Amino acid sequence: MSDRLAFARALYDAVPLYDPKRTPVDLDLTDNTNLWGLPPVAERTLREIPVHRITRYPSLYAAELKEALAGFVGATADRLVTGCGSDDILDSAMRAFGEPGSVVASSEPSFAMIPIFAQMNGLQYVGITETADHQPDLDALLATKPRILYLCSPNNPTGALLRRETLERAVREAPGVVFLDEAYAEFSGVSAVDLAMRVDNLLIVRTMSKAFGLAGLRIGYGIGAPALVRDVEKSRGPYKLNAMAEQVALAALHHDMPWVNAQVALAVENRERLAAALRDRGFTPLATHANYVCVPVPNAVAVGQALRTLGVAARPFAHLPHVGDTLRISVGPWVLMERFLAAFDEAAATVNGGEAT
Ligand code: PMP
Repeated sequence: MSDRLAFARALYDAVPLYDPKRTPVDLDLTDNTNLWGLPPVAERTLREIPVHRITRYPSLYAAELKEALAGFVGATADRLVTGCGSDDILDSAMRAFGEPGSVVASSEPSFAMIPIFAQMNGLQYVGITETADHQPDLDALLATKPRILYLCSPNNPTGALLRRETLERAVREAPGVVFLDEAYAEFSGVSAVDLAMRVDNLLIVRTMSKAFGLAGLRIGYGIGAPALVRDVEKSRGPYKLNAMAEQVALAALHHDMPWVNAQVALAVENRERLAAALRDRGFTPLATHANYVCVPVPNAVAVGQALRTLGVAARPFAHLPHVGDTLRISVGPWVLMERFLAAFDEAAATVNGGEAT
């Protein structure tokens, strides 16, 4: 490649810049953030941040926020690590536990950043196609002898919940660390924090980007055995959570839980309504436990493009195993879902002549 720097690390030739093709549109349903907006006390806190919070450095490792998050998830602060988004937790944890060249195994399809983080850290990514019932193929994953085994529940993009017995077996039999990404756990009401309190090789990864509506502030956290999260914290480094993020996150956890819980309940209700509306149209959305619906749609990429011309974006996936082309649609207030459905009817009719299957 002609623009390659002579001093560049060779492995970075293969690392792409992340591009989810998120050009601005009127109604963006591609990133599964909170479309109801900001929790109210969090918003007031953000507007009223005292100047000294910004002129001085933030806390080293966000000790106060770890206390509040521990209370929220039912753990203790010594089992918490925070980061600049859960992306940062995943990246730091790969750096902490992956020797150069060691295997990061993930079920596929899953979170698109995992192979990129693996490459960024000089690790070897291995993807294993999920089974027809949207569960990880654990035998095949374990056969790769992964230093890091990545699981996601509810999974992005399918919305499937990981079976508890599969997780427990993974933790028992994996030769290294198991990462369980629970970015969307609030919408499923299911979490494995209790398991992370009992074993020493499970790192749960959570975020305030989705249910808490704080994606732009970049607040993620990990939960695991004290020695495990301490190594993630070393790899993460000091000052990673900015001062505004810490104050706003604290305000949300201390004062906005009724708001957060109400929006989560609405998201779950609208998710089921959206799935039913798609079924009425002859589609068969996958069972989802997150704040998005993944629905097989023929020629999803073309349908996605047609949607964009109507000012609406949903995330298309081409050729997902077992289900083919799909669209993943973030769930929000019902007026937005109605707007999506109207645009979807038009886009699907233009591309597929109104055919559902
Ligand atoms: N994990 C999963 C499964 C996700 O879908 C996302 C966001 N798309 C993330 C982690 C990262 O979220 P954040 O860095 O905003 O916490």
